[in-house]
Amino acid sequence: MTERTYFITTYGCQMNEHDSERLAGMFEAEGYNKASAPEGASVVLFNTCCIREKADTRLYGQLGHVKAMKDRRPEMKIVVGGCLAQKDQALIQQKAPYVDVVLGTHNLASLPRLLRESDDGPSFEILEQTEIFPSALPARRSSPWHAWVSISIGCNNACTFCIVPAVRGKEVSRRVGDIAQEVQGLVDDGVVEVTLLGQNVNSYGRDLDGSPLFAHLLRELDRIPGLERVRFTSPHPKDFKADTVAAMAECRSVCEHIHLPVQAGSDAVLKRMKRAYSRARYLEKLEMVRTAIPDVAVTTDIIVGFPGETEDEFQDTLSLVSEACYDAAYTFQYSSRPMTAAADLPDHLPKEVVQERFDRLTALQTDISLDRNRALVGSQHEVLVEGPSKKDVGKLTGRTRSNKLVHFDNDGSPTGSLRTVEITVGHPHFLEGRPVGEVSEPPATGARLTLPMVAASTGCSSCA
Ligand code: SAM
Ligand code: SF4
Repeated sequence: MTERTYFITTYGCQMNEHDSERLAGMFEAEGYNKASAPEGASVVLFNTCCIREKADTRLYGQLGHVKAMKDRRPEMKIVVGGCLAQKDQALIQQKAPYVDVVLGTHNLASLPRLLRESDDGPSFEILEQTEIFPSALPARRSSPWHAWVSISIGCNNACTFCIVPAVRGKEVSRRVGDIAQEVQGLVDDGVVEVTLLGQNVNSYGRDLDGSPLFAHLLRELDRIPGLERVRFTSPHPKDFKADTVAAMAECRSVCEHIHLPVQAGSDAVLKRMKRAYSRARYLEKLEMVRTAIPDVAVTTDIIVGFPGETEDEFQDTLSLVSEACYDAAYTFQYSSRPMTAAADLPDHLPKEVVQERFDRLTALQTDISLDRNRALVGSQHEVLVEGPSKKDVGKLTGRTRSNKLVHFDNDGSPTGSLRTVEITVGHPHFLEGRPVGEVSEPPATGARLTLPMVAASTGCSSCA
């Protein structure tokens, strides 16, 4: 029998990376092997994102490219999944009729069935509600020592710029016991670091019996021996409260890093965005976390050029960035999205104005990041070794607990081990260092293909 292979291209956020690992797990459970390139693969899958318009354009460009491959090898299958598929099923059908399978964000589990059905013609399925949590599906993790763990899906907020609620649906949380059981299984497999995923991790549990809090979940996971690092993304500033800060400060495994998306520094813009906090309230929360965890690293998301943004309002963003003194910021140019309230607001800004503001913002943040990283020179940090550096094969690369990328002299430290590194140089986006002390052993790693332990249905919220 000829080998069946798959190739996945992932666009967008960590949620999509998590979902792609599940899609890969399902392919492998069905007997497919991973291909190193789309050319020659039996199935090519695009896991799409629609958060900004650029992602749409990129997908159709890529589809044109794989169509040429399919013309040469008609047996090859093309699958489109993810947020764009959820939003645009009909458009994909119309623009790319050669696509074999379309599946949305709520029905990843249907992939094997839809692939089989596509033997008889295109097989498209979009559901409005999730039936099975993606975390209950098999996973083929890209790293033996790190895993994404989704704690909730969907979002109940209504930020006026954001398409996520329209394509990912209402927020549904997983039970604490299910999450802890998954994390325990991952640790048994050699995972030492998990990143908990939710659109708003701080509203976690409100839909579950007993309304367990996110802080409670952090404390439960902290009891798992062998789990060295817990990260999470993202907390919404309006719901980020003292109990989470206390859990972060008190739990050994919770890393000293918080990603707290601010989006804008002007109260008027925050109001138009419906973010439900003011600049002052946001800064108070930052102060609260920095007081409790003095060496915490803080990162954020910022949108430039929201409809109607004046130069004065943009200046408020610049001054907030200076005041907040972020370690890093993910900066985005506003992109008008269908199914969002902001799309209908007046005064969308010309591209040149947005670009010019964007350049000023990134220049300011680059200076701040450089200052913060230079201040670390001489300090020692625990680094989780990720392997050889892509910049310099003579070096190893890894991340500090504060999520900073460090390239350091290769002393043979094994991938997945924790190494103490002294910082020697600070750059805006990474650090250089040298290892100090003894090389430690990596954790014993098991298979990267994990099979589901929990048949979690999103319908039941009992036994939290
Ligand atoms: N749930 C997260 C939160 O509330 O912070 C954000 C999730 S979203 C996938 C990631 C980031 O994309 C947002 O924080 C925002 O900065 C950016 N983003 C979302 N919609 C956007 C739009 N229409 N234009 C530009 N950036 C956008
Ligand atoms: Fe989008 Fe706001 Fe929900 Fe984040 S909290 S996913 S920005 S609607």
